[in-house]
Amino acid sequence: MWIKEYSACNMNDMTDYKIQSYMDYNATCPIREEVIEYMTEIMQYTGNASSVHRFGRRARKYIEEARMDVAALVKVKANQVIFNSGATEGNNAVVRKYCKDRILISAIEHPSIFRPAQEFATKYEIIEVNNDGVVDITKFENILKTGEKPALVSIMLANNESGIIQPVEKISKIVKEYDENIIMHIDAVQAAGKMEIDFEKFGADYMTLSAHKFGGPQGVGAIISAKGKIPPKILFGGGQERRQRAGTENIAGIAGFGVAAKIARNNIDYYQKNVGNLRNKIENELKKYDFVRILGENSPRICNTILFSIENAKAETMIMNFDLENIALSNGSACSSGAVQTSHVIEAMGENKDNAALRISLGWASTKENVDHFISVWQKIANNIKKV
Ligand code: PMP
Repeated sequence: MWIKEYSACNMNDMTDYKIQSYMDYNATCPIREEVIEYMTEIMQYTGNASSVHRFGRRARKYIEEARMDVAALVKVKANQVIFNSGATEGNNAVVRKYCKDRILISAIEHPSIFRPAQEFATKYEIIEVNNDGVVDITKFENILKTGEKPALVSIMLANNESGIIQPVEKISKIVKEYDENIIMHIDAVQAAGKMEIDFEKFGADYMTLSAHKFGGPQGVGAIISAKGKIPPKILFGGGQERRQRAGTENIAGIAGFGVAAKIARNNIDYYQKNVGNLRNKIENELKKYDFVRILGENSPRICNTILFSIENAKAETMIMNFDLENIALSNGSACSSGAVQTSHVIEAMGENKDNAALRISLGWASTKENVDHFISVWQKIANNIKKV
């Protein structure tokens, strides 16, 4: 049932055979069938993981198994993983911990980094990206080494709108060589489950993850900490999650996160090849039109994302036209409650605001049918644009 709704076609009524092409995986992604099954089973059991009786011990077991699977996804030890309600909580916790001092964040960070910085930071500075959407290392070094020593540097691994991969390992190295006490944080939400991640190699202190971007449920995530580092927290109360994140655990959610992490880890090569090929097919089609530009085309990118601009078109109209044909895509970030406004990421890359910028993001359940469907609808829409 699930795969038909999200991915291929609605077979409930064969007389109304319509392909549904969900192409907004960076906003959220269909939950893997195995995850739904496991979570459904676990939700039938009672148990608080803090209880010592057998009901509690069973709940604890689900959490600890998931911790191992999430740890394996990013190549850390289980005790480096603390579960929370998602990356918004994780990112807020990191920023708030260091907001009394100077903090540096890139111009393309997610609002869950930006907003707490705006709200609480005594002093925060923006690190610009170049027109290819990549953090400008020279400018970064200048900012880092001028003025008061920062307490925190926060750079995402892959951008949610463009898919562009940031040189976090290089940045971490620069930061730590300058002063090893400066905290380096990486928002890896859009990269996890889609590419190999070796947290230790990054040389960072903290990294945030979210389950719903790669087949897990919404509302669950994790902070990964470097060995021996205590993760930042914003919730205080009970002693859950090794006293680092208060609140009764979302057991089914955490267990689902674990299953999604395990499946993703075992399928990274397949994902990259399969999703990458589908993405390239769409991209090659888009590039046939001279009024289309692929943003960040020459930068390293996550294999599932295309951010493209269309001259003399309106993003709202384009999204609606695709929606009428059962194709779900977005105008960059979907995190502003459905509002269509110029994205700070696209602006940071110096793109002309008068062009429509659209994001296609594919994922584990995307099919060739979805891509062919998109291409046939796009050709109709593109031919109309050409005539204007
Ligand atoms: N960071 C990035 C890069 C994201 O794309 C998102 C989700 N759009 C978040 C953080 C927030 O994650 P969550 O939905 O788990 O709060």
